[in-house]
Amino acid sequence: MANSQKTGVFVRSGLGGIKEVIEPLISILTEAIKEGATDIHVDPTDQGKHVRYRVDGVLHDKTPVPMSMRKRLLNQVKVLIDVDIDKSFVPEEGFISLEIDGVQHDMRVTIAPIGDREAIHFRFLSSDRNLRDLTEIGMSEEDREIVQQVIDAPYGMILVAGGTGTGKTTTLYSLANILKSERLVVTSIEDPVEFRLPHVRQLEVREKHEFTMYDGLRVLLRMDPDVIVIGEIRDEPSAITAARAGLSGQLVMATIHSRNPTMAVDALNNMKVPRYVIGGALRLIIQQNLVLRLCQDCKREVEVTGQARDLFERHGVSVPPSIHEAVGCSQCGDYGHKGRTAVFELTPVDLVLGQDIAGGIGTRELSSRFRDARSRSLVQDILHKVADGDVSLDVANRFIGSLRD
Ligand SMILES: [Zn+2]
Repeated sequence: MANSQKTGVFVRSGLGGIKEVIEPLISILTEAIKEGATDIHVDPTDQGKHVRYRVDGVLHDKTPVPMSMRKRLLNQVKVLIDVDIDKSFVPEEGFISLEIDGVQHDMRVTIAPIGDREAIHFRFLSSDRNLRDLTEIGMSEEDREIVQQVIDAPYGMILVAGGTGTGKTTTLYSLANILKSERLVVTSIEDPVEFRLPHVRQLEVREKHEFTMYDGLRVLLRMDPDVIVIGEIRDEPSAITAARAGLSGQLVMATIHSRNPTMAVDALNNMKVPRYVIGGALRLIIQQNLVLRLCQDCKREVEVTGQARDLFERHGVSVPPSIHEAVGCSQCGDYGHKGRTAVFELTPVDLVLGQDIAGGIGTRELSSRFRDARSRSLVQDILHKVADGDVSLDVANRFIGSLRD
């Protein structure tokens, strides 16, 4: 911090102006960046402003901004996003970028009136997110081999399934990045483009200019693609076009909002994709979720208790000699956890299973067939991560509990 005060920290505002940032905002922003926060929440209270960071999906209380600094903070944010400081009864939105140590951090800033006061929200926009390979995002060797086998014969459809904020897009980019081949024309339609991939022809949805995902897909299909990457399948015409492309020999990779593989099939079917098209095109479903990763600098080795032993045995995962628990250190801001890892469940769809889907197999029967076909379940995958010292037993237990809800 001393260093930044000497040289000054500057922000580029949405309209292009360069402005210096001062206290208390500068501490809030630099600390949030240091901790790897995705969001900063600043809410009014009788004592001033309540400040919280969201780091790896979890909210953390920070030192509040005292009453005496409250107005100054608010005005500073308004100046940065070019909003009239006297205007306080309508929501305002703006963008700022802040450069620290040569790294640019882009943020969307929203100010909303709460009674006669105002709340501020900062969202970091994919600044410190790097393109990572499948190993780095937590995919086991066994699962990576399955992905490779499917991709080696590039046709059909790969679905990356999960809820909001489960890391689906990161996985999709990792998959697209494997296909760095000169023999293939790799294309994508995204909303929005989050990473630039030099070897991929990336189109961006622009709803404002009436360029929809479906429009983008049609453009891509006219341009002789081998691989089509789709940010997220959300509408009927895109779903039908994408699945048909998979059926006619292209490799289509897309994310879909779904809690399990059976629901992913249902979701496509609900978007009017005929069962025979789904069954014919689908080759792999990657179901995933994100969990907190133990800080590797301070985790502590502990013995496996009887209860933990039961858990491993019940799910057919070999009981490790020891596991690790969270502690907390300066590297992880005393959280005991740092970053997140994905947990995966891969379900390859072979010819026979495809024919069953095409034939209209019932939901219960399909779930059971998917269970037989999958490599390891989400629960088995997280238990392997506990055994490897990547995830704590507490986090695993909470995750397993959440699957039953
Ligand atoms: Zn630590």
